[in-house]
Amino acid sequence: MPPYPWQRGLWEQFVGWVERERLAHALLISGPTGLGGLALARAMGQYLLCNAPTGPLACGKCRGCQLFASETHPDFFVVQPEGTASVIKVDQVRELTGFISKTAQQGGRKVVMLTPAEAMNMSAANALLKSLEEPTANTFLLLVSPESSRLLATIRSRCAKMHLTPPKPEQALDWLAKVGVTDAAAQLLAEAGGEPLKVQRWFEEDFPAHRQRMSQDLGAIASGQRSPLAVAKAWLEKDLIEIIDCMMVWVQAAVKQRESRAPTEYGDFDVISQVAGAPTPLLFRYLDKLAQSKKELQSQSNPNQELLLDELLMGWASMASRSASRGR
Ligand SMILES: [Zn+2]
Repeated sequence: MPPYPWQRGLWEQFVGWVERERLAHALLISGPTGLGGLALARAMGQYLLCNAPTGPLACGKCRGCQLFASETHPDFFVVQPEGTASVIKVDQVRELTGFISKTAQQGGRKVVMLTPAEAMNMSAANALLKSLEEPTANTFLLLVSPESSRLLATIRSRCAKMHLTPPKPEQALDWLAKVGVTDAAAQLLAEAGGEPLKVQRWFEEDFPAHRQRMSQDLGAIASGQRSPLAVAKAWLEKDLIEIIDCMMVWVQAAVKQRESRAPTEYGDFDVISQVAGAPTPLLFRYLDKLAQSKKELQSQSNPNQELLLDELLMGWASMASRSASRGR
């Protein structure tokens, strides 16, 4: 079985390929991190190395499964950025090529998992291309790629593809309830772009409480109790990208609430109502500003974070004041 219920369709497809001996020698598994592509690839690796799978299940008992579980299977090779590096280097791909050219030590298949594939620098990607062009029998490459658009087109085109898409909210919420996430799960899921594992991580990091405090801080700015700068200083220790992602979803919900004049999945979550009365063009301009700020933070330009946050929060204050004056 696949690690997560929303991967069932892809898993059945994969098992079908293996059973009919039609599995491509390179498989690209794309889709956002919070959908569990890495865990899926790992499970595929175990399945391929299991000596006695039963239908869609690795047996969990054979030598192959035991070696896999203890992470010592000699025919499973993982390539990922080393230490604090963010890139996969050409030397690592050369090691991979070496692994591929050797005979399987357990006499069965060999599996390489490369993750995240877009982390390969140019020379690494070019080195990998050669391996993709000359497949080795009984050897399978699993490329995990959250942002596959950043991969070389020539690499993408040489792989069979599987793309993970967010599950239906009911299925995601059902799974979240099973792992103990019940509080505000629907709101969090919307904020996480439908990625259940992201919600689970947020929950473990006590994100709902952070989010509640963020909402309160924004409320204090909206009512003039606190200055944008004071809040900006307090927020500097947080993950600014996640703050921006969160604010984007809130402003989008405010737009939706304005357009439909109906409650969104947020119900009456007060952070939305702080700005939902502001003119739509203003809300859209603010969304642009959030997107722009995120881009700056992700770039190498090293922007002044306090200044950037202060500007965003001043923008929030002015949207809230336009929203309030309209309500009166
Ligand atoms: Zn097994």
